[in-house]
Amino acid sequence: MPNRFCAICGKILGDTDPHFGMCLKCYLKENPLFELPTKISFNICIDCGNFSKKDNWIEPERNEFFSIIEQALQNFLLRSYLKKNSISFSISFDKDTFKYSSKDLLISLEVLISGVLKEDSNIKHKQVISVDLNHTLCKNCTNLRGGTYYISVIQLRVKDEEHFNLIKQALDEIHKHVDGLFDKDPRQYISKIEDQKYGVDLYLSTNEIMNYLVKFLKAKYHFLIKRTKKLVGRDNQKGKNLYRFKTLIKFLPVRISDVISFEDQNYSVETITKNKVILRGENNTKLIKDYSYFFNEKITKKN
Ligand SMILES: [Zn+2]
Ligand SMILES: [Zn+2]
Repeated sequence: MPNRFCAICGKILGDTDPHFGMCLKCYLKENPLFELPTKISFNICIDCGNFSKKDNWIEPERNEFFSIIEQALQNFLLRSYLKKNSISFSISFDKDTFKYSSKDLLISLEVLISGVLKEDSNIKHKQVISVDLNHTLCKNCTNLRGGTYYISVIQLRVKDEEHFNLIKQALDEIHKHVDGLFDKDPRQYISKIEDQKYGVDLYLSTNEIMNYLVKFLKAKYHFLIKRTKKLVGRDNQKGKNLYRFKTLIKFLPVRISDVISFEDQNYSVETITKNKVILRGENNTKLIKDYSYFFNEKITKKN
């Protein structure tokens, strides 16, 4: 077989160079494995590390500064390539290019993005990208710092529409209670109340008010309670993590002296303790059930 030559550089082509009449080197120059914009800028929240290009803030999986930059580049630059999953990328930071603001925040740098075709490691490409970082506050942290938002949430729920009156009653009592509280301490207030399918969500200005209301409700109602907390940021001035607390309250759908029936038997509700309901059957049998039983089972009210 006669020799074939690279159409670009004239090198003799071997069997491993069947790239449209070009040697691999020239082929890759003409057809780079990937092409990225040479410049990018994005926002990083000073308080929580979330990042964004515009208004859509993304929570990083790992909240470490250079890992955040990497995740932002993956999101904003490499996303379509990563979806195809045919190239493996690595990102490295060139320390010599780091520029800092007067406040010592890293504001620009150059990163080297290298990619190798997974199918054929001979096919690779590198590109230098200059990155501008805009240190700012995300919406959430702006609100948190401003103190005009909410720190905690109480979710009041009933089992079904039949028990909506419980929500209404509890809300009335909460309003009266909070009004009294507000006079003494203006930091304690309900930011907003949102209707939900089986109840309402109360957005509260502080954690104390949440605990206060839970205690207040506990004295008057029986309910299942579930507390959760979520890390939403960091108060750098005070040097502590900021959490958003949530309390789910599911009102027990039975009251003392209710007559209910399930499994073809009638029972009257004799006593309700902190977490159990004591029932008395028609034939004087005594049954003790957890609160959760009344949410999971089909129970009919007789009176
Ligand atoms: Zn060539
Ligand atoms: Zn933030």
